[in-house]
Amino acid sequence: MNQLRLNPLTGRWVTVATGRASRPADFARDRAPVETSPVTPCPFCPGHEEELPPALETYGHSGEWLLRVVPNRYPAFEGAGPMLVEHLGPLFASAPATGIHEVLVFTPDHRQSWADLDDRQVGVTMAALRDRFEDHAHAPGIRYTQAIVNHGRAAGASLEHPHSQLLGISFVPGELVEEIAGFRRFSGACLLCATIDAERAAGHRVVSDKDGVVVVAPWWSGAPFELLVIPENHEGHLRRAAGTDLASVGHAIRDALHRIRELLGDVSYNLVVHTLPHHAHDPFHWHVHVVPRVHSVGGFEKGTGVPINIVAPEDACRLMTG
Ligand SMILES: [Zn+2]
Ligand SMILES: [Zn+2]
Ligand SMILES: [Zn+2]
Repeated sequence: MNQLRLNPLTGRWVTVATGRASRPADFARDRAPVETSPVTPCPFCPGHEEELPPALETYGHSGEWLLRVVPNRYPAFEGAGPMLVEHLGPLFASAPATGIHEVLVFTPDHRQSWADLDDRQVGVTMAALRDRFEDHAHAPGIRYTQAIVNHGRAAGASLEHPHSQLLGISFVPGELVEEIAGFRRFSGACLLCATIDAERAAGHRVVSDKDGVVVVAPWWSGAPFELLVIPENHEGHLRRAAGTDLASVGHAIRDALHRIRELLGDVSYNLVVHTLPHHAHDPFHWHVHVVPRVHSVGGFEKGTGVPINIVAPEDACRLMTG
């Protein structure tokens, strides 16, 4: 069982997950490109379904799947049960890393990425995300679910086949606690509804504005070409969003990734979905961060938490829309 450990310096939890046990030499692989070895075929490709645990959910019919949800083979979080914190003295607080860790294989086509998905595939992917969030919301002990896409080695991907990961966890992570606090500080209106209005008025950081979804290079961008995808309809929980809004967000992500690829080539990136913790009613507005990994975090940023962004969001937007 993996373990959560509390960092008393930051008040944030750390997960110690040794299931994928590495020898020191394995870390050298992180410098290599993401590649499936020709002797071990990709377990996410059609025809290799038996190499994975049985699917939790399959979308598509007549034998040809469009999307599969499978348990992660090396789960960071696993098993049911409440978050029982154990104190081994004043400094060593731990809890079992219970939760859900699953993989959403969102296309049977190994060579595609989200940027290449057709409308049907985008629709299925966003609908499946909503279904998984709904499922996690009803799972005992799961307080928050983080959905991500890691593309490319620099973004943490270990398999090339396009996929998303969903991690359902027993606590609300620090990043979400901080964003919710931001919504609370911005009293009187919704922070992201106001952002849509303000960025539309300013104009020169709006990368796209279509079908009720606004994509901006936010004023406060901490990394080059970072984008924020905001559905116009105010809703705190992704799982409560209208189907049309979900599909439009999926299309907007595809468009954003297209622009990034046109401008920068096939760079690594992370997609990060932020939605309210399952049973929370706090002020919030669900959204997706698109973060190209074109810049490595240096010592100052690591030491202070203060990013140094070498591309102003206004310039990023001009380059992406020019
Ligand atoms: Zn594959
Ligand atoms: Zn809002
Ligand atoms: Zn966020």
